Amino acid sequence: MNGYRDLRVALLGCGSVGAQVARLILDHGDELAARIGAHLQLTGIAVRDIDAPRDVELPRELFTTDAEQLVLGADVVVELMGGIEPARSLILRAIEGGADVVTANKALIAAHGPELSEAAEQVGAQLSYEAAVAGAIPIIRPLRESLAGDHVNRVLGIVNGSTNYILDRMDRFGDSAEDAMRVAAELGYLEADPTLDVEGYDAAQKATILARIAFHTEVPVDSVYREGITQVTLAQVEAAKHAGYVIKLLAIAERLTAADGTEGVSARVYPALISRDHPLAAVHGGKNAVFVEAEAAGELMFYGAGAGGIETASAVLGDLVSAARRHVVGGPGIPGSAHADLPILPIGEVTTSYQIMLEVRDEAGVLATIAGILAQHGVSASSVEQSVPEDSQGTAALIIGTHRAREADLAATVDELRDSGAVTAVTSVLRLEGNA
Ligand code: NAP
Repeated sequence: MNGYRDLRVALLGCGSVGAQVARLILDHGDELAARIGAHLQLTGIAVRDIDAPRDVELPRELFTTDAEQLVLGADVVVELMGGIEPARSLILRAIEGGADVVTANKALIAAHGPELSEAAEQVGAQLSYEAAVAGAIPIIRPLRESLAGDHVNRVLGIVNGSTNYILDRMDRFGDSAEDAMRVAAELGYLEADPTLDVEGYDAAQKATILARIAFHTEVPVDSVYREGITQVTLAQVEAAKHAGYVIKLLAIAERLTAADGTEGVSARVYPALISRDHPLAAVHGGKNAVFVEAEAAGELMFYGAGAGGIETASAVLGDLVSAARRHVVGGPGIPGSAHADLPILPIGEVTTSYQIMLEVRDEAGVLATIAGILAQHGVSASSVEQSVPEDSQGTAALIIGTHRAREADLAATVDELRDSGAVTAVTSVLRLEGNA
């Protein structure tokens, strides 16, 4: 076509994303060829069931169930099957055969990214996975390439649309957690088994990938501290709103200095308070955003659709064009790198501010007892708000905001408060993120 040489593209998977990728390759062939300097020849599409209905009408002769055969001889393999196996083995086979690989598979990249990057590097192939974090949003390439000369200090991401949808309904419409979950399920925001989303596993996979790229350090997914949204109550959401905050499930990757002076990295996922003035507070519904704080660039925010077949296909196509272009002009591309090899610091070393909600005895001396416990652990209060509910039976509600404190000190403070005679219940402990 137009004198361009052909580049052989093998597509593994034809589901929500794969079908859209196939359509874009076929529909936009001329335009893509002009950008790449070569024509993308879709050599085949591997699926489990050739006769399954597809979102897009595609030539039947492209379909095969023999994925292993399909990757042989490909210049670029696009993996959109999902899951660990056979995706991992097929990608390794593709790389061994000299192909570049594009994937959207966050589970695979979180668990086996270093192994796959290393295999690619050994043969000079390129492994790209822009779509694996926050769907359509360009964040991998900006972190890896655009910010390559800068020093990233912190990445805060709303990277799971389902949980953002649920928390946003609670905040904006006053839904209970159960009602918000039910609506999210009805609208297709939740899988049949919502555990991956609501328990924060999906966000933890993305935190691993973001931390790895931002800090050039291997961050195993099981080293990510993780709390989901299942414990978040409407009362917490309303109290947050009253105090000028919104609760968001955040995936955080941060450079940290431990108490003993060790420079390291923290990767964590939990529901946190964000000031309503913070740009992340404006991320509503199922949208995603990644907020980056870098030494020279300052604050940057990347916002958009974190999922959806066509939206995610955009990111896959970007990687595909880049990989294909490399076949035309040569060059190794920017490899994955773990040269910094920083230690992964435990959650106890994290420093943030907190909001603690307590039910306390409505008696003289109680505030002094609580202040004493905070001081003993080096935690200082920035605000204290007390209210006595009408139906109170000798108790009062206390909301304490703290200055920045180390998580280990805060945890010890909360344990001691819980055991003290002054406190009848610790109602809520939330971290406050997004402040300097
Ligand atoms: P999907 O709709 O479930 O489609 C998966 C496709 O892979 C199907 O066509 C399926 O074949 C095929 N497949 C699965 N196992 C296979 C096997 N062993 N051999 C051959 N074919 C196999 O998945 P998706 O939503 O498009 O997601 C694809 C990838 O993109 C996943 O890694 C996902 O995490 C990632 N991603 C998705 C989104 C999104 O919005 N959907 C966003 C970001 C990232 P059959 O059709 O014959 O069953």
